[in-house]
Amino acid sequence: MKIKNFFIFSIAISFVLTLCIDVSILIYMAATKTTVHIQALLLLSLALFILLSLIINNGVETYINYRIGKIYKQVNTLKKKRISNININADEFDFLARDILKYTYKKKREINKLNYRENYRRDFLGNVAHEIKTPLFTVQGYLLTLIEGAAEDREIRDKYLKRANAAIERLSEIVDDLDLITKLETNDLKLNIDTFNIIKVVQKVFDLLEMQAKKRNIKLTLDKFYDIPEFVMADESKIEQVLINLVMNSIKYGKIGGTTVVSIEYVDDEKILVKVKDNGEGIDKDNIPRLFERFYRVDKSRSRDQGGSGLGLAIVKHIVEAHEQTIDVKSVVGSGSTFYFTLDKA
Ligand code: ADP
Repeated sequence: MKIKNFFIFSIAISFVLTLCIDVSILIYMAATKTTVHIQALLLLSLALFILLSLIINNGVETYINYRIGKIYKQVNTLKKKRISNININADEFDFLARDILKYTYKKKREINKLNYRENYRRDFLGNVAHEIKTPLFTVQGYLLTLIEGAAEDREIRDKYLKRANAAIERLSEIVDDLDLITKLETNDLKLNIDTFNIIKVVQKVFDLLEMQAKKRNIKLTLDKFYDIPEFVMADESKIEQVLINLVMNSIKYGKIGGTTVVSIEYVDDEKILVKVKDNGEGIDKDNIPRLFERFYRVDKSRSRDQGGSGLGLAIVKHIVEAHEQTIDVKSVVGSGSTFYFTLDKA
């Protein structure tokens, strides 16, 4: 029942009560054979009616304020609603209280989410600025030196231009990684799930990274000869990206003259495990839980020397998890690391 309806109802009650009292008085007077003074009775009835109306209305108002006060005390984050929008039935009050509580929890969750996003944005911007500063200053340094006269020496000019170009390439790699991670973290990346032979993709990645591996004299190999294809269901280009990042890391942090071995194992009838194993420096167990975080590096200067953006493993984890698969790592300092992730068999 609405508040205004209740006031009409309370007036009606006052009227009925007054009528009942009048009838009782009349019956009493008739029984005691007392003379009835109609005017006095009407006056008394009017006074009674006004008094009852005031008492009932006041009582209702006090009751409503008490209940509303209780509700708003519970959810003190909410502003007061217009009373005319509130139902006064006790059950409806309970519903209202529950609704307001639900609304408060929802708002609280939204605020937490916004705070998280704000922190994320601040961290992200800080990290991005930090990452691009180094190559940017490198380019600027070489260009300024050339402007100041170094360009006159042909040999130095070529050397500095090549170095500036390498720094620009690094910048562009960082921007590509940033672009990819932003898409992954905002769920903007659509997966193109299809069936493909994972062995072929591994071989393609080996071919792609052959030059980098050669520079550190690292051998890239499969653990055995796979005479039959290993078909999986996934987004081929994204899984290729995962393998590029993992194999590239095995080269960057692998032992000079070492070996990177990729193997495919069966987990069960539905899943396979792809392993990328190196015999490099390994990772301390204290660093493992944070390894897949954006911009997390075990050895910061070494990672930058190797040209890493610190986003490689975060990208890998996002892609694997977007496929509803898992990724993990086992590592022993000084012996090497094995990164492994699951895929659905086709
Ligand atoms: P980065 O661009 O720095 O390589 P990643 O996200 O790919 O960023 O890796 C994060 C950190 O994890 C690296 O800085 C490195 O310290 C460590 N790491 C990754 N792969 C390996 C590996 N195979 N062996 C040892 N350390 C590794």
